[in-house]
Amino acid sequence: MTKSIKDIDKKYVMNSYNRYDLEIVEGMGVNCYDVEGKEYIDLSAGIGVNSLGFCEMGWVASVTQQVCKLNHTSNLFYSQPCALLAKSLCEKTGCDKVFFANSGAEANEGAIKLARKYSFDKYGKGRDKIVTLVNSFHGRTVATLSATGQDVFHNYFFPFNEGFEYATANDFASVEKLVDESVCAVMMELVQGEGGVIALDRDFVKKVAELCNKKDVLLIIDEVQTGVGRTGKFLASEHFGIKPDITTLAKGLGGGLPIGAVLANEKCSATLGFSMHGSTFGGNPIVCAGANYVLARLDDDFLFSVEQKGEYFKEKLQEIDEIESVSGLGLMMGLKLKTKTSSDVVKEGIKRGIIMLTAKDKVRLLPPLVITYDEIDKAVAIIKSILEK
Ligand SMILES: *Cc1c(COP(=O)(O)O)cnc(C)c1O
Repeated sequence: MTKSIKDIDKKYVMNSYNRYDLEIVEGMGVNCYDVEGKEYIDLSAGIGVNSLGFCEMGWVASVTQQVCKLNHTSNLFYSQPCALLAKSLCEKTGCDKVFFANSGAEANEGAIKLARKYSFDKYGKGRDKIVTLVNSFHGRTVATLSATGQDVFHNYFFPFNEGFEYATANDFASVEKLVDESVCAVMMELVQGEGGVIALDRDFVKKVAELCNKKDVLLIIDEVQTGVGRTGKFLASEHFGIKPDITTLAKGLGGGLPIGAVLANEKCSATLGFSMHGSTFGGNPIVCAGANYVLARLDDDFLFSVEQKGEYFKEKLQEIDEIESVSGLGLMMGLKLKTKTSSDVVKEGIKRGIIMLTAKDKVRLLPPLVITYDEIDKAVAIIKSILEK
């Protein structure tokens, strides 16, 4: 890698990221290239963002056309890409209305505000707590760190927000115990991503959904990582047979541009009225043009192919001796290793031309949804050679 870029970055960018020794200069499809032209297979998709891979031609064309036509308007005005994106999201998910933000954490912030306001309007003050799960991840802002049920995130930045309580995943009694008169919402991921690619039990999820419905407690499903086709359905909640009140999306939605979305059903889609929430960049035309292209690509055939490729990938990985088990759904996979350390494997992968992620003790794979069977075979062969060394 160009030494000077690493040096400049280290000197001028806050050192809050522990970067790998790799400077990516360009990419196409699932492949990217470093300064020396060395090729990598990217099974990280920029942490679930590049849903169509690097610089997919149609996506580039849509975004480029929009850049040349209208870059930004502010939310004081109407613009076509934003309105059409909201329409497609509602049509694809059955939700009633959408609020646009710029990231996953911001989408979750919006969802938290929406849930508290819904409860305030109907029941008055004091019904404001939000129950989340232990081992969850909901973002890096102060409120979403508070929502995140992991002690490692509750350091340094005191005081954290009040009003969050943590139940145990797959333990319905622990949720039931916490959902009392002071609770306005339950928020959870259906496959805990950062927490180790752990899918919740279907039965647990259905019971939580029923409880929420019965108590008029809003169910917020954080699909920032699982949404937009990642699991082989447009929303992971389709696998679980639930219809949440609020769904949050981000990562894969823009195909590489920063966007977050809060999707609300009819029950709470009118809760946030004029000037109660907002974002300068939210609904930006360029970002929405990128997302509109991603959504147009994700038809039923495409989603079915993601499900199929996920199963194929999983089967192939399970044949590797060092892999104890493969968790997750669709093209969101967590590899539990028998003897090796996930971070060592990811580091070795970079030397061998393959980009992977970690999630706790697992190796996490979030390949672009457009990965082909040939590319999966090629990736599995490299992973096998790393793990059998
Ligand atoms: C990544 C992630 C977030 C945070 O998204 P940002 O865009 O980094 O703010 C929130 N929730 C889940 C489930 C995530 O995976």
